[in-house]
Amino acid sequence: MDHKQSCEWFTNFLGIAYRYFDIRMNIILLFSNNGDCKNTWNRIMNQCDENEIKIRFVENQNHYWFIMTLYNNTKNVTFYKDFLSSHHYNRFKTNYDGKIYLRFGTYKQKYQHESKYNDICNCNHIMEKHDYNKGCKITTCVCTKFVTFQIALIKKKKIISDVKFLKTLNDVKKDSIAWNCLYSNNIID
Ligand SMILES: [Zn+2]
Ligand SMILES: [Zn+2]
Repeated sequence: MDHKQSCEWFTNFLGIAYRYFDIRMNIILLFSNNGDCKNTWNRIMNQCDENEIKIRFVENQNHYWFIMTLYNNTKNVTFYKDFLSSHHYNRFKTNYDGKIYLRFGTYKQKYQHESKYNDICNCNHIMEKHDYNKGCKITTCVCTKFVTFQIALIKKKKIISDVKFLKTLNDVKKDSIAWNCLYSNNIID
């Protein structure tokens, strides 16, 4: 398959969240507003069967590329973006068992007046440990303002079973999905 001719490259999403509470792990593509989130799902994801969707993680030191390709007679779209590795990503990778739920959602920052006492700040301490004006009360913490986030999921989901983790340039060269994306976008040559 020749992605290079007509592929739509989609990078207009904020990030990825990994969740573990279902039967399967969830990968959630995050958008900043609900309209973009739903429109993108309806325009792209709805037009593809689950077996036409493939996900690759390409690791490079403390970063990784997320690549998701959807390919059939009418759609040729690749979502991709570069992220810093995180313990969420590592936990996902360790627990990945052959299938994931793919979902879309919106990401919104939440401040102290909108939060509950046990919501966790970006500094990793709960809201109760924060002074309204001075930030975190834990003496070793540099946080000066409570900020947390909230993810709202849309209901639709897809089960994806073609997921691969690639660790070397050689792995990438053997994988047409990862190679097409990184080569076409001048990330590797
Ligand atoms: Zn703190
Ligand atoms: Zn804090």
